Amino acid sequence: MTDDATRRDVFRGAAAAGLVAAAAPAFAQGQTVPVDPQTKYTRTPFPEQRQKWPGLQRNMTPVPDCGETSYRGSGRLQGRKALLTGADSGIGRAAAIAFAREGADVAINYHPDEEPDAQDVAKLLRAEGRKLVLLPGDLTDERFTTALPGRAARQLGGLDILVSNAAYQQSKASIAEITPEQFDRTMKTNVYAMFWLTKAALPLMKPGSAIINTGSVNSVDPGEELLDYATTKAAILVFTKGLAKQVAKQGIRVNMVAPGPIWTPLQVVGGQLPGTLGKFGQDMPLGRAGQPAELAGLYVTLAEAGNSYTTGSTLGANGGAGTL
Ligand code: NAD
Ligand code: MG
Repeated sequence: MTDDATRRDVFRGAAAAGLVAAAAPAFAQGQTVPVDPQTKYTRTPFPEQRQKWPGLQRNMTPVPDCGETSYRGSGRLQGRKALLTGADSGIGRAAAIAFAREGADVAINYHPDEEPDAQDVAKLLRAEGRKLVLLPGDLTDERFTTALPGRAARQLGGLDILVSNAAYQQSKASIAEITPEQFDRTMKTNVYAMFWLTKAALPLMKPGSAIINTGSVNSVDPGEELLDYATTKAAILVFTKGLAKQVAKQGIRVNMVAPGPIWTPLQVVGGQLPGTLGKFGQDMPLGRAGQPAELAGLYVTLAEAGNSYTTGSTLGANGGAGTL
C-alpha cells in the first residue's frame, strides 16, 4: 500500500467515526508535492445530522476543515484591514484565518448564537499574535448592519477589504412550502445585508480596496429546492458585476467567489432536504464535497493588490460541476 493510500484509509476511518476534522493537516496550503484532489479530503458520505439554526461547526461530524492547521501565509495581505461576515464558521472562517495569516488585521461578524465557534477562531488567531476583532450581531437588522463597517474601521484603524459572506439557506421541495417569512429572511440576510454593508463601507474605502461577495453555483444554475436562496445568489452575481463597473473609477475592485457543495454548518441546519446529507457532494466530478479550506486562497487572490485588473469577476470552487 502506498503512503498516500495508507494515510487516506486512516483518515477515512477516523473521519467516519467523527473523531477528527475532515482533513489531515499533512495536506498543507502551499506545499510543493502534488496532491490528488479526489482524495485530498474525505469521500465518505456524511452521516445524517441536524442542528438548530445557526448551528455550530464544532458540533458537526466530521468537523469541517477551515485551514486551522494547514494554511500558511506569506505576507500577501500585509497591513490590510478586513471585515468579513459569517466568519465564525465554514467558508468565512477559512477566509478569515487565511487573511490573518497573510498579515491582515481582521474583524469578523457572526450571529450572537455562534459565540462558541467565534471564540474558537479568536483563540486560534490571537494565540498566533494576530489582530482579530469580534463584532457579533444580527445582519437582518438594518441599523446594526449599516453601522458595522464604521465600527470595524474604527477598531482596525481603517477598512480596505469587505467580504459579504453570511447567508441564510433553507431547502424546500416546493414553492408551496416557502413561507413569506422564510422568503423575507433569505432576501434580508443574503441581499439586503450585502447592500447595507457595501453602501456603508464604500465611503471608508480608499483606492486599492477590495470587495468580495460570496455567491454560489446557484447564481447561474439554481437547485430546484433552493428557489429563494438561488434567487438571492443570482442577485449577488449581478450586484457584483454592476458595482464593479460603478466603483472602478474609485479604484475599488468588486469580485465574487462561487462555491459548489462545501461541508459547512449551513448544510446541517436545513440547507439540504432531510435525509440527503449522505449524498452531499458525491455526484461532483471530483467525487466528494469540498472543504472550506479549499476556498481560502480564492478570497486572498481577489483581495491582494497584485491581481489589480480583476474586477467584476467570479472565481469558482465546485469540484468540476461545469458551472461558474
Ligand atoms: P456557514 O453556516 O458556516 O456560514 C454562514 C454564516 O452566515 C453563519 O456562520 C452566520 O454567521 C451567518 N449568518 C446567517 N444569518 C445571519 C444573521 N442574521 N446575522 C449574522 N450572521 C448571519 O456556512 P457556509 O457554507 O460557510 O456559508 C458561507 C457562504 O458560502 C454563504 O454565502 C453561502 O451561501 C455560501 N455558499 C455555501 C455553499 C456550501 O455548500 N456550503 C455553497 C455555495 C455558497
Ligand atoms: Mg456559523
